[in-house]
Amino acid sequence: MNQPAVYRAYSLHNFRKLPQVSAYLGEQALREMEVVGQVLPFKVNNYVADELIDWTQVPDDPIFRLTFPHRDMLLPHHFDLMAHTLARTSDKATIRKVANQIRMELNPHPAGQMSHNVPQLNGIKLTGLQHKYRETVLFFPAHGQTCHAYCSFCFRWPQFVGMDELKFAMRETELLVAYLKAHPEVTDVLITGGDPMIMKAKRLRAYIEPLLEADLPHLQHIRIGSKALAYWPYRFLTDQDADDVLRLFERVVQAGKHLAFMAHFNHAREMQTEAVRQAISRIRSTGAEIRTQSPLLRHINDEAPVWAEMWREQVRQGCVPYYMFVARDTGAHHYFAVPLSKAHEIYRKAYQQVSGLARTVRGPSMSAHPGKICVLGTAQVGDEQVFVLTFLQGRNPKWVGRPFFARYDEHATWINELQPALGEPSFFFEADDTVLINSAHALN
Ligand SMILES: *Cc1c(COP(=O)(O)O)cnc(C)c1O
Ligand code: SF4
Repeated sequence: MNQPAVYRAYSLHNFRKLPQVSAYLGEQALREMEVVGQVLPFKVNNYVADELIDWTQVPDDPIFRLTFPHRDMLLPHHFDLMAHTLARTSDKATIRKVANQIRMELNPHPAGQMSHNVPQLNGIKLTGLQHKYRETVLFFPAHGQTCHAYCSFCFRWPQFVGMDELKFAMRETELLVAYLKAHPEVTDVLITGGDPMIMKAKRLRAYIEPLLEADLPHLQHIRIGSKALAYWPYRFLTDQDADDVLRLFERVVQAGKHLAFMAHFNHAREMQTEAVRQAISRIRSTGAEIRTQSPLLRHINDEAPVWAEMWREQVRQGCVPYYMFVARDTGAHHYFAVPLSKAHEIYRKAYQQVSGLARTVRGPSMSAHPGKICVLGTAQVGDEQVFVLTFLQGRNPKWVGRPFFARYDEHATWINELQPALGEPSFFFEADDTVLINSAHALN
């Protein structure tokens, strides 16, 4: 990897210039992408186009579906509304207004993340933080709110299309450090985005070093949530400050903190290029640990062999499979959603095919308002068929690990489509009005 790779981004205004786009796609498909791309985020780059997508399989290629807009990602009436708008006007403000109107109908803020998890300190609302689970604080650095490419399913899309500009972001680590000092129960800070690895090493260092230098013995784990290994592995190889990034990782480890690189991979193919192998190896050589997670998505990875191969390849390269998520109820959910019954079947079939080293993975898990809810399976209780569920994380820590039941429903895709089983009037957590972890310091 001695030749520096030059990053080139493609989005709505220039994607027709990608050589593969003009070679493999027809005019109608391009126009449809332009309609959808007005509403949902769209950005791809030369690594994804040259090394990940198999263009002979387009449009069904999973990485193509992952990164390029597709007509069916909008509901027909939304698609028609935007198509008619584009046919009628080229006025940017009008197009944007219609786009925002459609976006507001796509559940832009699922799981109450804007309103319920924002903590405060001495009366100041810390809009760059989320604190939902006792041990872990999420930190959204202001400069990490974009990615090397965008996933068409992403629930963070309101941040990229300018709906949530900086509302979520906090410029300073000062407030984070002060918050951590006031919260000795917090052991983990998860730096997230967008993708924090979009930042220059210098900026990233400005966020991380204060955490190392402050006296925070209870802060044990610094996590970085990133898809850069899948979308731009050259970040760790030939980018100008690639070595500085690795030195920073080493500093974290030398300071006695555990550095967990939470890598987002959606498909086995993302594990297989020479660039990603070398990047993984370099990150691991700093003493950082790589854990992997992905949602389960129709059209992209809804087959057990893809997951089994992905997990096997991850373990072979020294990564630790961590979470399989259920696609969130936002954006193009109708396009990507897999029913919970099928999600569990895929999880189980894949889990059965791998050795114990890959069975560190948990799922399928819904990041819902009350917590991370995992489908453990289905069972027959008396003459009722049920889902057996449990909390992997709970807004109330006492909920974690307690199994509960929901009426089996073959088509349900999310917790809000499930009903309590066995004659219960409600789920146990709905009836639980004990003080929730965040309510003491949340605004609402
Ligand atoms: C998933 C998640 C975390 C981290 O949970 P772990 O189970 O510790 O990985 C923290 N905060 C929020 C809001 C999350 O969704
Ligand atoms: S890399 Fe992560 S934050 Fe960025 S678009 Fe994909 S899922 Fe969303």
